[in-house]
Amino acid sequence: MSAGLVQAAYIVSAVLFIMSLAGLSKQETARSGNYYGITGMAIALIATIFGPDSTGTGWIIVAMAMGGAIGLYYAKKVEMTEMPELVAILHSFVGMAAVLVGFNSYIDHGVLVGAMLNIHLVEVFLGVFIGAVTFTGSLVAFGKLRGVINSSALQLPHRHKLNLLALVVSAGLLYHFVSVEGSMFALILVTLIAFAFGYHLVASIGGADMPVVVSMLNSYSGWAAAAAGFMLSNDLLIVTGALVGSSGAILSYIMCKAMNRSFISVIAGGFGQDVVASSGDEEQGEHRETTAEEVAEMLKNSKSVVITPGYGMAVAQAQYPVHEITEKLRAQGVEVRFGIHPVAGRLPGHMNVLLAEAKVPYDIVLEMDEINDDLSETDTVLVIGANDTVNPAAMEDPNSPIAGMPVLEVWNAKNVIVFKRSMNTGYAGVQNPLFFKENTEMLFGDAKESCVEISKHI
Ligand code: NDP
Repeated sequence: MSAGLVQAAYIVSAVLFIMSLAGLSKQETARSGNYYGITGMAIALIATIFGPDSTGTGWIIVAMAMGGAIGLYYAKKVEMTEMPELVAILHSFVGMAAVLVGFNSYIDHGVLVGAMLNIHLVEVFLGVFIGAVTFTGSLVAFGKLRGVINSSALQLPHRHKLNLLALVVSAGLLYHFVSVEGSMFALILVTLIAFAFGYHLVASIGGADMPVVVSMLNSYSGWAAAAAGFMLSNDLLIVTGALVGSSGAILSYIMCKAMNRSFISVIAGGFGQDVVASSGDEEQGEHRETTAEEVAEMLKNSKSVVITPGYGMAVAQAQYPVHEITEKLRAQGVEVRFGIHPVAGRLPGHMNVLLAEAKVPYDIVLEMDEINDDLSETDTVLVIGANDTVNPAAMEDPNSPIAGMPVLEVWNAKNVIVFKRSMNTGYAGVQNPLFFKENTEMLFGDAKESCVEISKHI
């Protein structure tokens, strides 16, 4: 394939990637957005592998077949609830790839002199730094999401000074690296510093802020890819990396706004969030229990019902019986709507994906801001496997680890039914005063089983 044809293919791919992002921003067009992305990537890969800059095509195809088979196996096997973990581990691969590309292009940079050499050295240094931060940061995010690392924030003494020191030393090393026209020692040292920096940055972000971290790492992985694009002089990799980097940053910003968190403080490793956690996981009063039959009766007698799903609905795969209940109630003239918190579940848009999968109509699925004011006029709210996202402590207790996060104000409704298996806490590890309110009743058990039972009685 000639160089001109490769460039033309890259332009087509870049346009397809932009169309993909545009498609993914709406539920109705998300599927076609995915197809644009897949097509763009296929064109990009073919053009790169068969382009004039590639050698060892056989090896590349063998490596791709192996990597593709492993990817396909995991993508098919992964549960929807494990998706964020998969995304986090994939980000770590992008980070590691940027580190390896950096070392490779440092060792073998051809004949570069003067300003071109300096520019190349800066690219290598930054690529390795961003890649290494992304690598360990994503591994920690993976560990926290999987539950193998404690999700609470690591609070080392002088942690912000440590971060600052890492940055200052790295800047000094960059200066040295460029002035001596490259030093393997400086490159290895900055890699180790960046590994530690990435680990510390994500480890010091706690519980409920993890969604922002995952999308920040998405953004970092984009910048790492863009840096690799500069090192390899590959225009498409630069464009793609910049698209991923900036869309990840925009998503993080939107999520920070939705959670009332400062963008800077979250990306700087929880800077300025030294709250004393007052509400632990101890119970805060008496709770009342109900049965599926009673809930069915209550629903039939309600004029308006709002369902607020959370992570537990995903774990139980309760979206199908939830849809069944919705249809039966709507057929009986009950107004049923869904209220979706921006960080419900374990990945952005998690609940929307599940509800769409079960064919719940889009027009009754509302965002938190659209439904909150209506909750006081709602007869019954079904909290299905949600916990942190309906926790009044976020508004009432300034010392709570989730203080300031806007939540679905379900307690304003006439009746609240909470579907869960025990009195255990949610992701952020804090007890929920909602469970002890007078208008709240607990329906214990697996959310899917409870919904099937309720549906039978309607
Ligand atoms: P939570 O994680 O706060 O709570 C989920 C609840 O579901 C638990 O209390 C659990 O209680 C219950 N549950 C679990 N399995 C079942 C089951 N089979 N049947 C019934 N109930 C079940 O959920 P939310 O969605 O309200 O909040 C999301 C949290 O996750 C937030 O803190 C958010 O910051 C965080 N997060 C969000 C991400 C995102 O991008 N959306 C990414 C990473 C973290 P029990 O064990 O008693 O059943």
